[in-house]
Amino acid sequence: MSEKNIPVRVENASKRFRQGDTVVEALKEVTLDVAEGEFLTVMGASGSGKSTLLHLIAGLTRPDAGSISINGEILTGMSDRRLTMFRRRHIGIIFQSFNLIPTLTARDNILLPAASDGRILEAEKALPSLLSRLDLENRISHRPDALSGGEQQRAAIARALINQPAIVLADEPTGSLDSVNGQNLCKLLREMCDKDGRTIILVTHEPSVAIWSKRIVVLKDGRIISSFETSGFKDSHSLASHYQGIVESDKRNGAAA
Ligand code: ADP
Ligand code: MG
Repeated sequence: MSEKNIPVRVENASKRFRQGDTVVEALKEVTLDVAEGEFLTVMGASGSGKSTLLHLIAGLTRPDAGSISINGEILTGMSDRRLTMFRRRHIGIIFQSFNLIPTLTARDNILLPAASDGRILEAEKALPSLLSRLDLENRISHRPDALSGGEQQRAAIARALINQPAIVLADEPTGSLDSVNGQNLCKLLREMCDKDGRTIILVTHEPSVAIWSKRIVVLKDGRIISSFETSGFKDSHSLASHYQGIVESDKRNGAAA
């Protein structure tokens, strides 16, 4: 396969953090390829390294060892400035905490990444269809505090998509939503993958969210301990018990070692 078909390639990436006197190994030699148009979920307990992995892929953090390639370009050697520009072009990021700017209207929040990249005209052209798809047409003149949680998250998604990124990263995007809004968001992510061919990497610990993706990798203590397709599971309950089984059996192996 050519590099073009593998928009996200993580090779032997490791990341350590210093916490006072101790060093935490957040990621240990993680290798992961994500194909074009794939919808991948990263699952794992709190502290297993999910956000660190996503931040490395986004170029928000640099690995201590190993490399990250996005659309065939290696991030590791890029300057901070080049990395920021590269990210704006290629990657849309959705966070649990929305991160909207409170003093700007929803419209200005959504257009911000395009404005910072000199692409405001294209963005204004793309805006109406994006808003109608996200059911936000009537809300965009409001500031974030006048929007519901679901609307704020949809505005954050519109902001992530305004530059038409090929890759969308979402870190626990349903974490601040009720279950109805959470499931609607999952449906939208799935559509972005199926209809628009975007490559999506989602981090969650909720099986009812993970079931919308096509493949799941499980992280534990900074390592990938399993990778499997979701197609074999009829509902999120069967997926949840499979996931529990993986984590439990790894615990037993760990104890035996
Ligand atoms: P997850 O998203 O799965 O909950 P994280 O990737 O946030 O896990 O964290 C993995 C480990 O790295 C945790 O032990 C966490 O405390 C540590 N860690 C993450 N980011 C930092 C940081 N900026 N400084 C220090 N430790 C960090
Ligand atoms: Mg996290």
